[in-house]
Amino acid sequence: MTSSSGYILALDLGTTGNRAFLFDNSGNVISQAYQELTQYYPQPGWLEHDPLEIWQATCTVMQKAIQQAKIKALDIKAIGLTVQRETCLLWDKTTGQPLHNAIVWQDRRTASLCQKLQEQGYAEEIFDRTGLIIDAYFSASKLSWLLEQVVKPSSINLDHVLAGTIDCWILWNLTGGKVHATDDSNASRTMLYNLTTREWDTKLLDLFNIPANLLPKIQPSLGYFGTTKPDLLGAEIPITAILGDQQASLFGHGCDRPGLVKCTYGTGSFLVAHTGNNIIHSQQQLIATIAWTQNDLDGTTKVGYALEGSMFTTGACIQWLRDGIGLIDSAAQTEILAQQVSDNGGVYFVPALSGLGAPHWDMNARGAFFGITGGVKRQHLVRSVLEAIAFQVKEVVQAINDSGVLQVERLKVDGGACENNFLMQFQADVLGIPVERPVMRDTTVRGVAIAAGIACGFWQDDAQLVSFSQIDRVFEPENTQSATSNFQQWLSAVERAKHWVD
Ligand code: ADP
Repeated sequence: MTSSSGYILALDLGTTGNRAFLFDNSGNVISQAYQELTQYYPQPGWLEHDPLEIWQATCTVMQKAIQQAKIKALDIKAIGLTVQRETCLLWDKTTGQPLHNAIVWQDRRTASLCQKLQEQGYAEEIFDRTGLIIDAYFSASKLSWLLEQVVKPSSINLDHVLAGTIDCWILWNLTGGKVHATDDSNASRTMLYNLTTREWDTKLLDLFNIPANLLPKIQPSLGYFGTTKPDLLGAEIPITAILGDQQASLFGHGCDRPGLVKCTYGTGSFLVAHTGNNIIHSQQQLIATIAWTQNDLDGTTKVGYALEGSMFTTGACIQWLRDGIGLIDSAAQTEILAQQVSDNGGVYFVPALSGLGAPHWDMNARGAFFGITGGVKRQHLVRSVLEAIAFQVKEVVQAINDSGVLQVERLKVDGGACENNFLMQFQADVLGIPVERPVMRDTTVRGVAIAAGIACGFWQDDAQLVSFSQIDRVFEPENTQSATSNFQQWLSAVERAKHWVD
């Protein structure tokens, strides 16, 4: 690190909550604040967030982090912003009011629209243009729904409407309504962004009926986006990095070259491999996406791509065990309960609470427990949920290996559920490779902090990332044989849960 003074403020606006971290020049966390986010389930399979709550929580956590650190806002050199991806909204630029709640990435309300597009034969063309597999997960069908169901029946003047993902909404608010922009990594999750031209794809805008003038300007992930409005924090602080949360985690792990792979265990699990400047159109039901983009000194944009396996509900299943059915008191308790039994008691869980993502992409699959007999205890059910998280990741690792681009030999992990030692050991067992957990688990927030720090010249280059990545524990594979045979049984459970709501 260089020796200049000052701080970087990193904002991580996730699915379950919003965080602010302050980093000093040596990369130490000097303060942090967190606020949980309300989840709205208006109908089965639907999930919404209140955009104003996200904005208010962002202000609260920023202010708390600054107060705790007892620093002056003037000493913050830059802000990095990373967000839950695909979640999107419309708002009125004249009033600043959202037109509806944001539709969250897990929301399945547009499954039938996506199915129609599949039946009409658009899958290949959309995959070629965007790197994505048609699914309600991505923003395009959600924006289409908002325009059709909220704007069309109303008297709202379309000229006043702006569209965006959460980064775009927060950037607009941070800058006092001055900047309507997003970065390539978030844009690449909309299904409206052409991965090759790196622009909004006019053919897809037509297909989804989305007027181009509603959409934000697309900018490099590392670069100047604007400054905070002066009355917000008492200083005009530049925002110099915006990244999707999984891309920020990839950055934070130092996965900046082809072959480096990480898996985040949060609300969902996301296995992402950097693929250099190559777009990999895998035949294994994985998606191609932007890792991050950055302007070089000569003005050309350096583009990094990634291959991703997105698994929608993993930590969310743990949350459901706690909040949905009260089987556990806390997420951490799952580790203790799973270790109280020697095996899963023949129980297999399919974590399809919002359908299945990679490698199945079945919007109509639903969650299920299989194999319940009279002797099954609470511990078995809990253990089967943790095992299912690891089995899903194994499926995606196999898909990456089969895609012929790289062989995963070691897995770097982060996210809330990587705290769980049982899960991490079982993951190593079922994969048969080491699982490496860093000391600083908040790799997402660290990633965007480093990105913002590099972009504003606070830190010099990413070679310095190495000093950030101390390892907490490496889980070596031990009991691989029984884990592997259980995996086969789990695969047959998954087949039975598919197409459930057809
Ligand atoms: P996000 O960024 O998606 O909001 P986080 O990385 O903050 O998610 O992780 C939160 C998720 O991790 C929750 O869904 C929670 O259920 C799960 N989780 C947290 N701690 C544990 C644990 N010890 N064991 C298993 N799951 C956990």
